[in-house]
Amino acid sequence: MNMRPTRPLRGQFCYRIHPLNSVFTAEVLAIFQALDELVVPEKDILILSDSFSALSSLKNISFHSPKVIQRLAAKIHIRKNLNQNIAFLWIPGHSGVSWNEKADSIAKQVSEFSPYIDWIVSEDILSHLKKQSFQIIEENYHKSKYQLLIGNIPDILTSSKWTGNRVQDRLIARIISKLITTPGLLYRFNFHLDPSCRVCNEINDISHILLKCQKYASVRVILWRKLNIVSANITYDVLLSHVLANKNQLLIFVQTLKYFDIDQLHPFGNKCFGSIVYSPFRRPLNYHWD
Ligand SMILES: [Zn+2]
Repeated sequence: MNMRPTRPLRGQFCYRIHPLNSVFTAEVLAIFQALDELVVPEKDILILSDSFSALSSLKNISFHSPKVIQRLAAKIHIRKNLNQNIAFLWIPGHSGVSWNEKADSIAKQVSEFSPYIDWIVSEDILSHLKKQSFQIIEENYHKSKYQLLIGNIPDILTSSKWTGNRVQDRLIARIISKLITTPGLLYRFNFHLDPSCRVCNEINDISHILLKCQKYASVRVILWRKLNIVSANITYDVLLSHVLANKNQLLIFVQTLKYFDIDQLHPFGNKCFGSIVYSPFRRPLNYHWD
C-alpha cells in the first residue's frame, strides 16, 4: 500500500467561505474539498492536516458529531468501498513542514475574486444565534431600569457550570441579583413593615447580611479567609468576584450560606416565614430572621 505522495499534487485550491463558519468547519471543508478535487482516481490517499480537532473528531465519530464531520465520514466511506485506502496524518502547524507551509501560503492568497463556497454549517449558525441572543439580552439589560436597581450581574452561565443542582443554581442567581428574601427586600416591595436589622439598625438586605451585619462577624472572618479576601471592607461586587472566581470558591460560599441563616436546603418555606403576609416569589429562598 503506497500512501506516500509519490507524485506532485495535481492542483491546488483556495476558496472563500462564509465568515459564520468556524475555524473547525473551515478545516473540515478543506479536507472535504481535497478529497473531491485533488485526489488521483484509483490511488491511495494520504491527507496531512494540522487540525487536531478535525482529525480527532473524525476518529471519534458518533451520532452526536458535527454534521460536517458526518458528511466527511460518509464521503470517506464511499471511497473505501471503491477500494481506495485513505489515511490521515496529523502534522504540527507552522513548524516548517513544507506541504503544510505551502497550504498556508495558498490560504493567504485568498481574495474577493477567489471562488466562494456558499454553505454555512448549521451548528455554526446556531452558535452564532446563541451568541447574538445573549448579546441582545445583555444590551437590553444595560439599557433597562433593572441595571440601575441591581447593577452589573456577573455571567450566570459561568457559575451554573459549577453548581451541583437546581437549588444551588437558583440560590446563586438570587445572590447575584440580590433577590434573596430578606426584610430589606420585602420592604422595597411593600411586603414588610420594618426593613432594618435589629442588631445593627441598618437596612437588612443580603448585602448587609453578607458584608456588614455584626451577627455574622465570626462567620464572615472564616469565609473571607477561605475566599482569600484580605480587606475587611469590600463591596458586594468584590465579594461576588471572589465567589465566582472558580468552582471551589463558589462551593465554599454556598456551603457557608447556612451560617448566615440563608436557607438553601429548604427553599419552599421555613419556620419564620409565617411572619410574612405574602411572598412575592413563588419559591422563595429565605433568610431566617427573628
Ligand atoms: Zn445586622
